[in-house]
Amino acid sequence: MSAKRIKNPNQPIKTRVHNMYGGMIKRHEVKYWKTGRRKGLIRVPAIPIPFTEAELFEWTLNLGPVFRCPYCSTLLTPLVFSVDHEIPLGRGGSLDLANLSAVCKLCNALKGALTGEEYRHLRRSLETLHPDAQKSIYQRLKSGGFRWVKPKEIAA
Ligand SMILES: [Zn+2]
Repeated sequence: MSAKRIKNPNQPIKTRVHNMYGGMIKRHEVKYWKTGRRKGLIRVPAIPIPFTEAELFEWTLNLGPVFRCPYCSTLLTPLVFSVDHEIPLGRGGSLDLANLSAVCKLCNALKGALTGEEYRHLRRSLETLHPDAQKSIYQRLKSGGFRWVKPKEIAA
């Protein structure tokens, strides 16, 4: 068991990349209409991932054993980071590795559909506000705005 670990110290990273890559494929696989007249027809066509799992593994290794979130400087490792699209896919960003960045989980959640540049700008702007105001805005960004409200509460 320990000999195996010495043989391949990158195995945990490999496993994580395998899971990330599987998640990417799943997120962009073909989606069908589930009900109604169009049931069974393609609703969203599949988008092929423009890189291989091996290339994603290489990209992850190139981040280094320890690196910082490009936005908030939190220390990260290849096992602890979130994949972010510098330019969001919904805003014309590509799926290419060149558009990927390794960020902390919190920045990934806060950034939402902002570009990297817009998110940096937002962070700089918030720094000029009172700490309580910063806290309030970050908390609301983190909750995902009003989408966070449960449908039940809207109906009531
Ligand atoms: Zn961050």
